[in-house]
Amino acid sequence: ETILEVSHLSYLYGNDQEALQDVSVSMEKGEKIAVIGSNGAGKSTFFLNLNGVLTPHEGTVSYRGRVITKSKKDLNYLRKNVGIVFQDADNQIIASTVFQEVSFGPMNLKLTKEEVTERVKEALSYMNITRMRDRAPHYLSGGEKKRVSIADIIAMKPEVIIFDEPTASLDPMNASMLEEVLKKLEQEGRTILISTHDIDFAYRWAERILVFEGGRIIADGKPVEIFQND
Ligand code: ADP
Ligand code: ADP
Repeated sequence: ETILEVSHLSYLYGNDQEALQDVSVSMEKGEKIAVIGSNGAGKSTFFLNLNGVLTPHEGTVSYRGRVITKSKKDLNYLRKNVGIVFQDADNQIIASTVFQEVSFGPMNLKLTKEEVTERVKEALSYMNITRMRDRAPHYLSGGEKKRVSIADIIAMKPEVIIFDEPTASLDPMNASMLEEVLKKLEQEGRTILISTHDIDFAYRWAERILVFEGGRIIADGKPVEIFQND
């Protein structure tokens, strides 16, 4: 079952900085996909097009067969279903308490106050941070902030979850926290995309690897297929 379908996607920053060129790829429900490639290869730009923060200059992104236009309705539909955990939790976190922070996403989904509270409680419990609900995110440790930034996305219950370089700068304890969260998300049948420079992690975790270079996907396959030739 195809969840996300990208067809001939090109993206430019300004008028001439071509960040993605004619990218086509389709992603199935429940797939575990690692996205690799050097800095500037286009990984982040690809992700931002997958959840409608950026919209294609050319080509299309479809979610469950629905082509996402630039209409507010389509973009909201996409954002509700595709969540991104950004690399830098400090840029993602803005509220003065953890509870408030995690409630922003569900509030934007126009749920009732009770439903929002329920979503936040579930997300905090999912990430084992219920005891931090009244604390100021700003003063939490790096690993705790990472948990809050993941809870932000969990509270939206997106079908697709994207992690932008989650393994960078995580100590061993937080790396194992991340792997536990990934296991839970996998068991729930969610589709997961992770960009990483950690080749061991990609090899071990992913079912499929997309290799970006110069704004294009230059390889797409199982880890053994991707790594046997280099
Ligand atoms: P990463 O590779 O970790 O995803 P980058 O280093 O590519 O991140 O980019 C970090 C931030 O800087 C992003 O918000 C990106 O959009 C922005 N950025 C990257 N390259 C440029 C550029 N040439 N001009 C302006 N902003 C840029
Ligand atoms: P990656 O995530 O693989 O590091 P990016 O998608 O961040 O790659 O960047 C792809 C290209 O787009 C790079 O040449 C980068 O410098 C450029 N770029 C990224 N963000 C911006 C931005 N905000 N403004 C201008 N150029 C950008």
